[in-house]
Amino acid sequence: MIKRLAVIGVGLIGGSLALALKKKAAVDEVVGYARSSEVRKQALDLGIIDYAADSIAEAVREADVVFVAVPMGAMAQVFEEMSPHLSAQTIITDGGSAKAQVIAAAKQFLGEHFQFFVPGHPIAGTEKSGPTAAFSSLYEDHRVVLTPVEETRPEATKVVDEMWRKAGAEVFEMSVEQHDTVLAATSHLPHVLAFNLVGMLAQRDDCDEVLRYAAGGFRDFSRIASSDAVMWRDICLGNREAILSLLGQYRQGLNQLEEAIRSDNGDYLIDVFARAKKARDSRFADPSLIDNSEV
Ligand code: NAP
Repeated sequence: MIKRLAVIGVGLIGGSLALALKKKAAVDEVVGYARSSEVRKQALDLGIIDYAADSIAEAVREADVVFVAVPMGAMAQVFEEMSPHLSAQTIITDGGSAKAQVIAAAKQFLGEHFQFFVPGHPIAGTEKSGPTAAFSSLYEDHRVVLTPVEETRPEATKVVDEMWRKAGAEVFEMSVEQHDTVLAATSHLPHVLAFNLVGMLAQRDDCDEVLRYAAGGFRDFSRIASSDAVMWRDICLGNREAILSLLGQYRQGLNQLEEAIRSDNGDYLIDVFARAKKARDSRFADPSLIDNSEV
């Protein structure tokens, strides 16, 4: 049982964890912080938090666990602000979508307290944001990846592991590098592609006309382009190397497809499309495999 949980960033990810733990009676009190008083009030009114703090310093005071669920670009500043106000044994964890950058920020700003920092990433979400998007079952039967590093205290990892299990998640541990590479392929690259396609179509003069004839496939593919722009800017810049490497590979494949279409090379197209269909049909036959992916 967590006595006092502080949630910094009470949107979809932070709010859903608070609601899930409250529903399971796994937490006594949730204190929340967001920059805007309107967001804090929403979180209070929705029963996500019991108390809205006016500052990060106030939110983390005497907390047993602090969950940081702000856009990745804001994490460093949040760690810096909380650092002088943490109690000796307070455990800190986060929900950031790429881990190396967040860990570097925590190491820089948490100082001695870095040993109590457990990097984490819930592989769950929707394209919606803010407290109103939060719901208590978001993490049920979804995966949460923890990427503890050499300095991380095992007892801190254990507390965070148990917290996520109480919220209904399956918890896995991975190395930071493996996490950032895998998520770049399964989540970050697809978001970049969807944003690019929808953005490209939106610039056309006949955009409304084009979209009128969009079929289900376009709806499926484009859903993730409704995700929050700030969050995805921060993920792209925060997991730069892995995303750039995949974009290079993707561009090569696209060039080859372009050349095959130009030169009427139907065999090449059949080869690529059939290989992709076979891979998807066999590997993703279990829908839970893809439902688990972030947003
Ligand atoms: P969200 O719904 O937009 O919520 C973000 C929250 O952080 C809001 O309460 C926002 O309120 C607050 N915030 C923003 N900047 C802040 C700052 N500088 N200081 C303090 N609070 C700040 O975002 P989310 O979807 O929950 O994402 C949160 C984190 O989870 C991100 O790091 C993201 O990479 C990760 N994640 C997201 C998903 C997903 O599918 N959405 C999945 C897994 C992980 P104010 O604007 O009022 O400050």
